Amino acid sequence: MCVGQRVLVPFGKRQQVGIVMEIAKTSDIAIEKLKPIIRAFVEEAPLDAELLNLVRFCANYYHHPFGQALLSSLPTRLRQIAPAVSRKQYLYSLTDLGSKVDLTQWSKRQKVLSRVWTALQSATHLTETELGTISSSARKAAKQLVDLGYARSEQVMAQQRVPMMPVVAEPQLNDEQSHAVSTIVQVLHEFKPWLLYGVTGSGKTEVYIRLMQQVLQQQSAQVLVLVPEINLTPQLEARFRSRLPQYVLVSLHSGLSDSERLHHWQLAQSGAAQIVIGTRLAIFTPLPDLKLMIIDEEHDSSYKQQDSMRYHARDVAMVRAKRLNIPVVLGSATPALESWYNATGTSARANGTAQANRYGLLALKQRAVSAAQLPQIDCIDTSKVHLQHGLTPQLIAALRARLERKEQSLLFINRRGYSPVLLCSACHWIAPCTRCSSRLVVHLGQRKLRCHHCGHEQRIPHQCPSCGNADLHPTGHGTQRLEQTLAQLLPDARIARVDRDSISRKQALVEILDKVHQQEIDILVGTQMLAKGHDFPNLTLVGVIDTDSALHSPDFRASERLFAQLMQVAGRAGRADKPGRVIIQTAFPEHDLFHALRQHDYASYANALLQEREVVQFPPYVFTALIRAEAHEYALVQQFLQYAYQQARSLGETVIVYDPVRPHMERLKGMERGYIALQSSQRPALQRLLMFLVSQLRAHKLSAKVRWAVDVNPLEF
Ligand code: ADP
Ligand code: ZN
Ligand code: ZN
Repeated sequence: MCVGQRVLVPFGKRQQVGIVMEIAKTSDIAIEKLKPIIRAFVEEAPLDAELLNLVRFCANYYHHPFGQALLSSLPTRLRQIAPAVSRKQYLYSLTDLGSKVDLTQWSKRQKVLSRVWTALQSATHLTETELGTISSSARKAAKQLVDLGYARSEQVMAQQRVPMMPVVAEPQLNDEQSHAVSTIVQVLHEFKPWLLYGVTGSGKTEVYIRLMQQVLQQQSAQVLVLVPEINLTPQLEARFRSRLPQYVLVSLHSGLSDSERLHHWQLAQSGAAQIVIGTRLAIFTPLPDLKLMIIDEEHDSSYKQQDSMRYHARDVAMVRAKRLNIPVVLGSATPALESWYNATGTSARANGTAQANRYGLLALKQRAVSAAQLPQIDCIDTSKVHLQHGLTPQLIAALRARLERKEQSLLFINRRGYSPVLLCSACHWIAPCTRCSSRLVVHLGQRKLRCHHCGHEQRIPHQCPSCGNADLHPTGHGTQRLEQTLAQLLPDARIARVDRDSISRKQALVEILDKVHQQEIDILVGTQMLAKGHDFPNLTLVGVIDTDSALHSPDFRASERLFAQLMQVAGRAGRADKPGRVIIQTAFPEHDLFHALRQHDYASYANALLQEREVVQFPPYVFTALIRAEAHEYALVQQFLQYAYQQARSLGETVIVYDPVRPHMERLKGMERGYIALQSSQRPALQRLLMFLVSQLRAHKLSAKVRWAVDVNPLEF
């Protein structure tokens, strides 16, 4: 028994999985009240101290119960009561003696022996499964080599079957890439965050690969690569496998079955997997030999967990890297303003508080493939032209031209469904969701109205429930309507739609992407699912429809997000030798955001946003936290938040405490919502206040009736 061991313990009348935190010889609790552990899962490796400490730190920092934080960081199987057995097999490698002798000349009788020896020479180590591919008697031969002292065997966990990948030649790095790689490689053994700021297609992934090569050359090293979405893992996985075939790579994301996830997690925990690629939760994977972390698309908001413990994987990675004294590489074409600030220290009035240049900044300004130019971006003023079903004549003409040239196009619209609103032309009634402060989206194909926030579904009414008028109009455009419009306008075009409705199966996206690569699709219509990562050489036009609402959103991060999203989606055009073009339909072509976008100038836009944030004292210039609360009745929420407000004010810390307010989405899934915001220029003061506040709130009588949570560094208000 040891600390970190998984155990089964009695808990009231039930049995619960627990983790041993401490072993004590004495206790203040009376002996008859102490209960024995029912079972220790000693066949499983215990959690190591580094991981336990990391989770403990996060539980404190995010003000979440430690036990919950720890258990929810584990694969489902380890939260269940059964033992989690791992698949084991033998791994063979040559001893010093074995690598010095020359067995190639062995006699015919021992042909298999010499083949196994040769294979071990080049592969450094082979599993039993891999040996099986050499010859049916290869395993016996390997054991013979062990007996002769030429090889050794160790028991490791079975590795997952890996598809053989064609080995791809290394491109020669360009100057910017070489500079990035050599700069980081100089300081591989200390904590240092790097911001790899490179336009889409500038070869960031190539830089990751070179760094991984360098790091993995060391004895027992592991690299953790975080990606924002599981949809992006297969591509990156394939690329890493083909370039780093000698290493064991596992992925960790919610698309895996429980047993796959456990198995991959255990391979990481044992050190057998050298490369781990995963989504946000993978930041809590035990990695005994972790030497480098890479966070791709570091600006992506999916790194932030939006319920239970509201951690940000990038922030957790920083803490982890600092404790392990290893580098972290953040990659993005449009870094989060926080990261940009940390890397450039940009400040209009550079005052003492600016934490300038905490991160190293490495820029890749050119696309890696020399022929690939950044696309030309044009804004078409929708207030000045006549729209045909929501499309400008310019965009339609550009689509036609691509069809004639047999090139592909992508239309980006960040709204799924047929149309976002069902409107009564007589009384202006709009179909609402009864459970949320939102409107129901028309899904014409299914003849349904659907809430995209809570999943509520109902039939499309035949008449207006308010005035009886039968003339109800789907108003505005969603992906389905756009798809239908295009089919009418361009009947010869082969169109595919990519959104959460069309891609319910994991395989469906892969199939569509395959078709795009096979040139079986002319026009892709889709949401942000299409914006990221994909590389389509023959795609030369990107059209952007209806993003204006985000320009005027009350959320102060909306324009940062929109810029990143448009930059990403624009980056899909012209990735190979054909020039790309981007057409954005907007009623505000003179907006600063579009000016910067047309210049592909993230930096000056980011600097301008930072200046604004400094003036109004928003993050990253101040630290914020929210106390969120929700209940079936708002009165309870208000009472609870009022109490929180008074308590927070009473402490007299240098923290600004704002009055309770309601979020933009006042009601969600039948719950009335509210929050108070706390803000300080000093992180420790904010933390002290939260610590005090949380203990007060936990003890409050309403804390059981109101669902509440602390959100440190919230992304959404
Ligand atoms: P990013 O991750 O920044 O979007 P990638 O690493 O995917 O960029 O590179 C874009 C394309 O350029 C890929 O097809 C990649 O193989 C290619 N590439 C990257 N670096 C080089 C290089 N130095 N020389 C030639 N091609 C390169
Ligand atoms: Zn009506
Ligand atoms: Zn709803």
